[in-house]
Amino acid sequence: MAVSSPGLEISFADFAGMFSKPATARSDPPTNCIGYAARDSTGVLSPFTFDRRPVGPKDVRIQIAHVGICHSDLHSAKNEWGSSLYPLVPGHEIVGIVTEVGSEVTSFKPGDRAGVGCMVDSCGACDMCKAPRCEEQFCSKCVLTFNSLMPDGTLTQGGYSSHIVVTEKFVLRLPENLPLEVTAPLLCAGITVYSPMKHFGLDKPGMKLGVVGLGGLGHMAVKIAKGMGLHVTVISTSESKKEEALNVLKADEFLVSKDEAAVKAAFGSLHGIIDTVSAQHDLAPLVGLLQVDGKLVLVGVPDKPLQLPNAAIVFKRATVGGSLIGGIRQTQEMLDFCGQHGIGASIEKIPIDYVNTAYERMLRSDVRYRFVIDIQGSLINGGQ
Ligand code: NAP
Ligand code: ZN
Repeated sequence: MAVSSPGLEISFADFAGMFSKPATARSDPPTNCIGYAARDSTGVLSPFTFDRRPVGPKDVRIQIAHVGICHSDLHSAKNEWGSSLYPLVPGHEIVGIVTEVGSEVTSFKPGDRAGVGCMVDSCGACDMCKAPRCEEQFCSKCVLTFNSLMPDGTLTQGGYSSHIVVTEKFVLRLPENLPLEVTAPLLCAGITVYSPMKHFGLDKPGMKLGVVGLGGLGHMAVKIAKGMGLHVTVISTSESKKEEALNVLKADEFLVSKDEAAVKAAFGSLHGIIDTVSAQHDLAPLVGLLQVDGKLVLVGVPDKPLQLPNAAIVFKRATVGGSLIGGIRQTQEMLDFCGQHGIGASIEKIPIDYVNTAYERMLRSDVRYRFVIDIQGSLINGGQ
């Protein structure tokens, strides 16, 4: 099979062969890593070769086995947030095996399982980075896993690729009892819903939590909230997801958002809501579902702002908040929690050349519940 990228026409064998080059050896042209990149705002992904840095003293090199597809990948590939730098290799739910570590690395060794989420660097010295906060996602110098600039000006590239080199502090230990592929989505979807449950006090057994949007983030919110002992109501546009939500994901209740009678009957019932919706939607009915003093936490980031329903908020004395992924310490806490409770994502595993179709299906809410790309099987050992 021939694959092509601008200015480059190579066989798949040559393409895959590049992977075997040691990361410490520079090549010219610089192409020690293979991946899939978007080239423009069509968001269409195609094969791409590029260079990862050599392993430095504090670095860990991970051969990527699987990577989850987050809706943020799609927003970014299509430049829906207006900040995309091309070529753009998405992917920030990365799991794999350590193949090399730097001389100062103490927590990982070759052969270990390891994960990388949404961040790969931060200043390490500001109030956000240091204890007690340890919330590097709010550091003004935080470097995201892709579409972000390292201090030396290098553009970061994500996990739809054969390997990654990351400073040890941003590498996560993975639960030994969970298969790698169901662990990948915890690195973004998992922490993005776990963190607000903790921060906004929506984590006490028996509390009533609503989860809006049963996609990648939403289904992890249901699983994690059930693990914490919460009473969970799913609020969804997709009636077809009801049976599975109740019987497999173990949600307690399922509201179809366009069923006005059911929504009215649930008025004032919830302590809090985590809204994971990736597109425009009406917040007023959601605030209506809250008890007085309830909390609506937005984690979805649609391309345009939502309208704030002032009256509904005022009459509930509601708090409307937001939340951004979670710090590295809390991400490790979440991974350990998921390991203890046997919580992995529900996934559809796909080869990398299915990624453009996967994006189309994700836009139609047609995924149960996270696409995970088999990097090892289709990018590294693929092409047959
Ligand atoms: P996803 O898998 O596509 O799930 C989104 C869900 O929203 C869909 O499954 C669907 O659920 C619902 N939905 C879609 N369009 C809708 C519409 N027009 N009206 C109402 N509901 C709709 O996406 P995801 O990966 O979970 O990400 C969700 C959002 O969170 C994205 O905007 C992403 O960028 C953002 N995000 C934020 C953070 C953060 O740190 N805050 C981190 C990661 C992702 P139903 O079928 O059940 O209705
Ligand atoms: Zn994400």
